[in-house]
Amino acid sequence: MDETQTSPDTSDEPLARLAVLLKQADPAQASRPTQGAELALKARDLAMALARPLDAGRAAAWHCTHLFRAGNYQGADAAALVALPLLAAPALVEERCETLRVQAMANCERGHFGAALEAAQRLGSVAAEVRSPGWALMAALALAACYDRLGDAWQATRVLDEGIHAHSAGATPRQRFIALVAMSAVLIDSFHRMRDALLPEEGQECLRRARPYAEAAVQSLGPTSEPLAEVTSRGNLGEILLWSGEIEAARLPLQTAMARAHECGFVGYAHRTEATWCQWLVACGRAEEARMLAETLLLQLADGGSLATTIRVRDAAYRACRTLGQAEAALQHHEHFERLERRRTLGEMRAMGQLFVTRTEAMTLARRADEFERMAQRDELTGLANRSLLQQRATHLAPGDVLAIIDIDHFKQINDAHGHAAGDAVLVRLARLFEECTRDGDLAARTGGEEFVLLLRGLGVGAAVDVCERLRLTVAQQGSWPELPAGEGLTVSIGLAAAGEQSLETATRRADAALYDAKRAGRNRVVVARD
Ligand code: GH3
Ligand code: MG
Ligand code: MG
Repeated sequence: MDETQTSPDTSDEPLARLAVLLKQADPAQASRPTQGAELALKARDLAMALARPLDAGRAAAWHCTHLFRAGNYQGADAAALVALPLLAAPALVEERCETLRVQAMANCERGHFGAALEAAQRLGSVAAEVRSPGWALMAALALAACYDRLGDAWQATRVLDEGIHAHSAGATPRQRFIALVAMSAVLIDSFHRMRDALLPEEGQECLRRARPYAEAAVQSLGPTSEPLAEVTSRGNLGEILLWSGEIEAARLPLQTAMARAHECGFVGYAHRTEATWCQWLVACGRAEEARMLAETLLLQLADGGSLATTIRVRDAAYRACRTLGQAEAALQHHEHFERLERRRTLGEMRAMGQLFVTRTEAMTLARRADEFERMAQRDELTGLANRSLLQQRATHLAPGDVLAIIDIDHFKQINDAHGHAAGDAVLVRLARLFEECTRDGDLAARTGGEEFVLLLRGLGVGAAVDVCERLRLTVAQQGSWPELPAGEGLTVSIGLAAAGEQSLETATRRADAALYDAKRAGRNRVVVARD
C-alpha cells in the first residue's frame, strides 16, 4: 500500500478489503469486463470513503477500461469524465494517459469525433509533457483510429506509420503491441473497403502490408499476455490468412480468438471474430452453417451492435445464401449490405463535414477574437499601441525605464496649410519612425492627436536622451516628406522622465512638464524632467 495515503479508519479490516478489491479489479488480471467494472466501482467508492485518493483514482481509471472492453462505449466515456479529475496527481500519470486513450477510442467508436480528437490531443500533450514516447505512440494511434472511422484509411495508416517509426523504440512492449494490432486492423479495414469497391488488387496489397504487423503481434504473445491481446492479435491474423486464401492456416487463430473472446466476455470482439468465422465457413463450402451463424449474429447485432461488424455479417450471409442457391434470401442480404454501406459512407461524410465545419468555425472565431483584441489595444490610424495598451504594459515600471512624450511642433499649421489627410499621412510616417527606434520590450504608443509616448525599458536616462536626440534630428533633417510640398519639413519636441519605481501617472506628469519646458524654450528639442 502507498505510504502517502492516510486512513482515518483505525481498524485494518476495510483496508484489507480494499486491497482485495483492487487486486480483483485490475484489468491486467483476467476478470470479465462487466464484473471488473463492478469491482472497480466498488474499489473506487471504498477508496474514497477511506480517503485514499491514489487508490480511488486508479480504480476509477480501471472502471473506464473495463467498460470499454465490454463494448460499453457510452459508459466508458462517462467513466472517463468521472475518472480524469481524480487522476491529476503525478503518481497517476500512467492511469491518466490510459484513461485519455480509452476516452479517445470510445468516442471514436461512438462516432463522437470532436470528443475523440480532443482526448487524443490531450493525450499527446501529456505525453510531450512527461516525455513519454509510448504515450505519444498511443496518441498517434487514437488519432489514426479517428481517421479510420471517418473513412480516411490512408491518413490513418500514415499517422500510425509515422507514430510507430518515431516512438516505437521508447514505448513499452504493451504499447508496441497495441500499435501492431492497430496497424493490422486499419489495413484490414482498408482491405474490406477496396474489396467492396471492387478493387481486389489494391485490397490484396493492403493485406500484404497488414500481415507482418499481425504476425509480429502474435509472435510477441507470451504466457502472461492479457486475454484481450490474444483475441485481437489472433483475430487479425486469422482474418488476413482467410482473405489471402490460406483457409486452413486461418482456422486455428480464428477459433482461438473466438473462444477467448467468449470466455472473457469481450462481446464486441466476439461478434467481430464470428463475422470472420462466417466468411471462413463460406470459403470452406460449409454454407449452411455460415447462413445459420449469420442469422444468429444478425439478431444479436440488431440491438446496438457495431455497424462495421453488421456489414461484414450481411456480406457473409449473402455469400452463403448465394452458394446455397437461395436467390431471394441472397438478394435481401445484399440489399441490406448495400444500404448499410451507404449509411456508413453517409455517416462518414457527415462526420467529416461537421468536424471540418467545427474546426473552420473555431479557427475563424479565434482569429476574430484576436482581431478584436488587437483593435481594442491599437490606435486605428497608425497601428501603434493606444493608451489602454500602454497602461496595461506599464503596470510594473522597473529601475532604468524611461518615459518619453513626443509632441509635433505647430502641427495645427500643417493641417491648416495642407489639409487633414496630409496631416494624417505625416502621423503615420512618424509612427513608423518611432517603431524603428524602439527595441523588443519597448513600447511606442499614440496617446493623443499629435502626441506619442515611448516607453524605453531599462535604458537609463542618459541613453534614453541619446535615442530621443537622434529621433529629433532624424525628424528635423528628414530630407523629404512626400506628404508635404518639397522643402517643407517638421520638428518634434520631447519631454523625458525616469519612470522606475513610479506610477505611470507620476512619470507622465513629469515627462509632460519637461515637454512643456521644451516648447517654451523654443521647440525642436529634448528636455529631461527635473527631480
Ligand atoms: P504645438 O507646437 O504647441 O504643439 O502646436 P500644435 O499646433 O501642434 O498644437 P495644438 O495642440 O494647438 O494642435 C494640435 C493639432 O493636431 C490640432 C489638430 O488639428 C491636430 N490633430 C489632432 N489629431 C489629429 C489627427 O488625427 N489627424 C490630423 N491630421 N490632425 C490632428
Ligand atoms: Mg499637442
Ligand atoms: Mg503639437
